Amino acid sequence: CGIVGYVGSDEAGEFLIDGLRRLEYRGYDSAGVAIHGGATFSITRSVGRIDSLAAELGATIPSGSLGLGHTRWATHGPATLENAHPHLGGSGEVVLVHNGVIENFQVLKDELIQKGYVFASATDSEVIAHLIAEGLKQTPANEEQPNLRYLAAVQWAVSRLRGTYGLAIAFRDHPNFMIAARFGSPLVIGVGRGEYFVASDASPLVGRTDRIVYLADHQLAVLTPEGFSVLHRDQGKVRVDIRPLETDS
Ligand code: GLU
Repeated sequence: CGIVGYVGSDEAGEFLIDGLRRLEYRGYDSAGVAIHGGATFSITRSVGRIDSLAAELGATIPSGSLGLGHTRWATHGPATLENAHPHLGGSGEVVLVHNGVIENFQVLKDELIQKGYVFASATDSEVIAHLIAEGLKQTPANEEQPNLRYLAAVQWAVSRLRGTYGLAIAFRDHPNFMIAARFGSPLVIGVGRGEYFVASDASPLVGRTDRIVYLADHQLAVLTPEGFSVLHRDQGKVRVDIRPLETDS
């Protein structure tokens, strides 16, 4: 299973598909991508190989300079189109991909259904998407620093999760902004110039950038085309080492 993400000024789609192919060796049963096209997300999913996802996308991959992608190794719910990631939260204001297992998903799901959230899949992952939407609802708008509101919603949501997660999260109404979060599932940040990458391991980054940051458990990364920062889940910013990307060749 694997995760890729792109924030920058290039087309996201090409990196996403290429990156997912490079993560194929990790194993998966379905795949999908979400690309922010300016107003909303264009989501494409497919059961089976990346080739069938690429075929689904057709010759013209949706345009957009922010996107995320996923290969799924089903743990909760069978390998169907409905269960393939990305998943939407709320009424589509949140989109995310998740690797890992959320152990307390049923408790959270019951709570969210009580609040009126409607589930489209049988996955544990979709719970996180709706939980972030609920976090946004509870967090007042911050005109001066909108990033902080989105960050607070994600921090609140992940603090409620029991289990493992690698996450890439984006927002319909706040484009050019992505949050990655990790506990128990590997996640790295590729540091480019005016562009930043998220991936499960270094392989999708080869040829794109030679600078990498390995996220540690309980860390979140906030990415925009202007830069990135890493925070501890419930403490402040942390200093991270940007390392050279080692390649075998
Ligand atoms: N538990 C999630 C699911 O079943 C994510 C699986 C994965 O790591 O790919 O959809």
